[in-house]
Amino acid sequence: MELLREMMRLQHERGCLTDETLRAISKERRVPLYRLEELVSFYPSFRRTQPPKFAVHVCRDVSCRMSGCGALGEQIRAAASSGDDVEVHEVSCLGRCELAPAVEINEVPLGERNTLSDLEAFLAGESPLPENEPTATPRTWKCDTYATSESRYAIVQNLAANTDTLAETCIERLSNAGLRGMGGAGFPTGRKWELVRGETEPTKYVICNADESEPGTFKDRVILEELPHLVIEGMVLAALTIGAKRGIVYLRHEYGREQKALEAALSDARARGILGKDAAGSGQPFDIEIFISPGGYILGEETALLEALEDKRGEPRNKPPYPGTHGLWGKPTLINNVETYALATSIVHHGSEWWSEQGRGDVAGLKFVSVSGDVNSPGVYEIPLGMPVSELIELAGGMPNGQQLQAFLPGGASSNFLPASAVDTPLDFDSMKAAGSMLGTGAVIVISDRHNLFDLATNIVTFFRNESCGKCVPCRMGSQQAVQILEGVQSGEAPSESLDILPDLGETLEQTSICGLGQVALNPILSLMQNVPGSVATARN
Ligand code: SF4
Repeated sequence: MELLREMMRLQHERGCLTDETLRAISKERRVPLYRLEELVSFYPSFRRTQPPKFAVHVCRDVSCRMSGCGALGEQIRAAASSGDDVEVHEVSCLGRCELAPAVEINEVPLGERNTLSDLEAFLAGESPLPENEPTATPRTWKCDTYATSESRYAIVQNLAANTDTLAETCIERLSNAGLRGMGGAGFPTGRKWELVRGETEPTKYVICNADESEPGTFKDRVILEELPHLVIEGMVLAALTIGAKRGIVYLRHEYGREQKALEAALSDARARGILGKDAAGSGQPFDIEIFISPGGYILGEETALLEALEDKRGEPRNKPPYPGTHGLWGKPTLINNVETYALATSIVHHGSEWWSEQGRGDVAGLKFVSVSGDVNSPGVYEIPLGMPVSELIELAGGMPNGQQLQAFLPGGASSNFLPASAVDTPLDFDSMKAAGSMLGTGAVIVISDRHNLFDLATNIVTFFRNESCGKCVPCRMGSQQAVQILEGVQSGEAPSESLDILPDLGETLEQTSICGLGQVALNPILSLMQNVPGSVATARN
């Protein structure tokens, strides 16, 4: 972790990592140069040459593609051509899909009020770049247990005097509530905390995975900016439950504003004694640091994230063993994502009965969902689990006039496409599975009849191809082969029969890939073939 941090610090200071800089690091730290080269070549945020005065990044992924990122990118290129020292790049999801097409300049996200003419003014040096500061207007969230900022951290302070009681209370309430991990896998949270608590190794870690990078997913970003205290309190409860002294928030590097909000909340928690030598009055030390990811979607995979924290290339590990027993530096490590820690705090505070009351029908609980695509008010919504997708679309302002729902992705880019006829499916783990998709990351992408679904599926498969870490051959080669087939059919250069190989190719990837990326890489097109066959038939014609 120290090596990658040092490399990022030096790049920040000097603009890039030259041969000379790498040789100096190698000599000073007694690390072979090839180790540094393998890191620089793996992580996309490292540069070997000086950056331009302006680096403009335009997101090319599904929600932004639906909003015309291709045309915007061309306009920006045209605007940039008259300026000196400007680079324009199409990049993977920036995590600001509600502003689609998302654009950032020198790592400062441009908001909905920034127009192309504003951008031209920035590039011409006629106006300064916007401040990269938190911008959220405070909202009321049901899961925020505290009426005032003064009353924050009450539950951990009440329980911390006896950590055995605290641990039993947390595990019991989380298990009774049935809270499942909100990062996509859905593992029962209480069970996970209990398993790591049961490990006898004295050194343990608590990690918050704040590296959401799947196209359409931006809910954790909003939670970090607006409810960081709930995340911190969840991590402290987890640490006192399992017996960890060190916590790490693994944060994607595009979330500079959220980093500032989190840093402010961490300082506040230290000032209140929630973090430090006597965390929350427990008599045990615990503190949280932020690790900024050097980039790459695959780092959201929990074992890839651990590899990065150990200063290696972020390639997923074979599992088992799982991080709960063999995690960071081989020690038991509890990893949950941002939303899970925030909701865990609410459940420990209110109890499992309260949690049950928050859901719809037989389904318990709340869920943060990111809504993007063809709705009038894209954004993050806190909904009762079990709310039908149709109701969520209305909550997000409904669809623009004249547009009809064609299909939707209920759980981010890796979830299966569902047709418009499934719009009344409740958003919960089991209902989505029964409908042939998944709740996944809770990112609902609404797609109207003005889009070519085959083109969007190709875009998503291309995203997975681009983000494959390359460690295993089926994922590396299979995703590339799938993209070639899809692009060939789309352009008319390949016969439509080429698509017939995709189900077998998808099954091969599913059975032989080490991690979830390879296992789901072909899901977008396979689910389209299965659930919305008419859209593929059009591509075949
Ligand atoms: Fe890397 Fe793909 Fe293998 Fe996952 S499945 S480890 S992303 S090559």
